[in-house]
Amino acid sequence: MKKYIMSLDQGTTSSRCIIFDESANAVSIAQKEYRQIFPHEGWVEHNPYDILKTQLEVAKKALEESGLSASQISGIGITNQRETTVVWNKETGKPYCNAIVWQCRRTADICAKLKADGLEQMIKERTGLVIDPYFSATKIKWILDNVPGVRKDAEKGLALFGTVDSWLIWNLSGGKCHATDVSNASRTMLFNINTMSWDKELLKIFDIPYKMLPKVVDSSCVICETQKKIFGSSIKICGVAGDQQAALFGHGCFNSGECKNTYGTGCFLLMNTGKNRVNSEFGLISSVAWRIKKETFYALEGSVFVAGAAIQWLRDEMNLISYSAQSEEAALSVNDTGGVYLVPAFTGLGAPYWQPEARGIICGLTRGTNKNHIIRAALESLAYQTNDVLSAMVSDSGIKISTLEADGGATENNFLMQFQADISQINIKLPSCREATALGAALLAGLSCGVYNDLDEIKRILITDKSFSPKIQDETRGKLLRGWKNAIEKCKI
Ligand code: ADP
Repeated sequence: MKKYIMSLDQGTTSSRCIIFDESANAVSIAQKEYRQIFPHEGWVEHNPYDILKTQLEVAKKALEESGLSASQISGIGITNQRETTVVWNKETGKPYCNAIVWQCRRTADICAKLKADGLEQMIKERTGLVIDPYFSATKIKWILDNVPGVRKDAEKGLALFGTVDSWLIWNLSGGKCHATDVSNASRTMLFNINTMSWDKELLKIFDIPYKMLPKVVDSSCVICETQKKIFGSSIKICGVAGDQQAALFGHGCFNSGECKNTYGTGCFLLMNTGKNRVNSEFGLISSVAWRIKKETFYALEGSVFVAGAAIQWLRDEMNLISYSAQSEEAALSVNDTGGVYLVPAFTGLGAPYWQPEARGIICGLTRGTNKNHIIRAALESLAYQTNDVLSAMVSDSGIKISTLEADGGATENNFLMQFQADISQINIKLPSCREATALGAALLAGLSCGVYNDLDEIKRILITDKSFSPKIQDETRGKLLRGWKNAIEKCKI
C-alpha cells in the first residue's frame, strides 16, 4: 500500500498544504492567502488566528481532495515563515497580541542599543546571527515590555513564546505540546548553536524568562499527535523545519558543500556545511540546518533583497514588460547587454557588501542601448547577486561549489538559469518537484514515521527535471564580472 505524508507550509502571505505520496508526487494542493497587517510604517503583523484558521482550512481541503482518510496519512511535516513571534496564554490558548512578523522593523532601537553595548561579537559567536530586528529575541522583548500583563504572566510560566511552528503544534495538539525544532530555534537569537540549548546569558540580556520558551526537538522525530477531532483521527506530527532549511532538505542537499537557491521576490541561498559550524567573515549567517537522531547539521545562509522584485519593477514601475516571463524573450532578443549593468540595490546592498545606504543604478548606457538591454541587465543582476553570495560561501567555507539546486518562480526563466551557470561556472539543477520547501517538511516527517528508512532512500526519489551547465569562455566571464564589480562600486554611497 502506498504511503502518504501531509505537509503544512505556513508562509508569510499564504498557508498551504500539500499531500505527497512516498515518491514525492503531490497528490493534492490547497492554498489560502491571509491578511497582512501594517499598523505603522515599518511594522508588520499577522493575526495568529488567521494563520491557524487558514492552515487548518487548507489541510482539511487538501485531505478531502486527495480522497484519503486521516488514517492513511503516515505523518505531518510542518514548515513555516521563520522568526515571526507569537506569545499566548497557556491556560486560555489566546495570543496576547498579533504575531510580530519577521519583516517588522519596530525593534530597530533595541538592536541599535545592543550594538552600542558592544554585544555584536558575543551574539554572533553564540547564535551565528547578526543583530537585526529580523530575529525573534527583540520581538519577544518588545511584547514583554509593551503589552500589558505579559511580563507578569511570563514570570509565572503562563505566557508562552513560539515561532509559527510552535503555535501550530500547540493548537494541533490541543495545547498538549509546546515545542519547536532546532532550525527554528536557531533563528530566535536566543539559541546557542554551539551547545544546542537556550542560552541563559542571552535570556538575561534580553530579559526574557526561560519559562516562556518551547522545548527544542529534532527536525525529524515524533513530536506529538493532532487532536482526534481535527481530521477524524489523530495524525503524528513528526517533521519540522523553518522554510529555508526545509527547502535545503527538500532539494536533497544532505552533504557538506551542497547548496540551494530560491529565486523568488528575493533570493535565499543556503549551503550545508555539515557537522561543523562555519563562521562567516563575509556577512553570511550561520544557522542550524536540521538535527536528525541527535546529529546536528549546520548551514551558511545569505540572502539577496531584490531579485524577482527587480523583474516586477520592470513590469509595474517601468512598464518595459507586461508579465515576468516576457523578460526571457526580451533578453534573448539581444546578444548581450551592450555593456549595461543594472544593480537593483533598491533597499541597499546585502551580503557580502552590507551597504544599507546604497541605492540602485543603471550604468554603461550608450546611444545604442534599448529596452531589451535593460531588461537583460535586470535579469542578469539576479545571477550576479547570487554569484556574489556564492563566492562569499566559498571563501567562508573553503568548499568549492559544483552544483546549485534551484527553485522559486524565476527558475522558469531558462535564460537566467543558463546565465547563472555561465557566470558562476557551476551546474544548475531544477528538481521535478518544484515545491522544495513543502517537500522538505514532508521528507523530514517521512523519515521519522517509517515512510523512509534513511537519507539514501530519499535521495533516490529526488529527480532532476532540468539542468544547465556552463558554456561561456573564461575570458568573457572575467570581463562580465569585472563590469559588475565596477557597477557595484558605483552604487555604494
Ligand atoms: P515569492 O515566493 O517570493 O512570492 P515566487 O517564487 O512565487 O516568489 O516567484 C515570484 C517572483 O519570480 C516574482 O518576483 C517574479 O517577478 C519572478 N518571476 C516569475 N516568473 C519569472 C520569469 N519567467 N522570469 C523572471 N522572473 C520571474
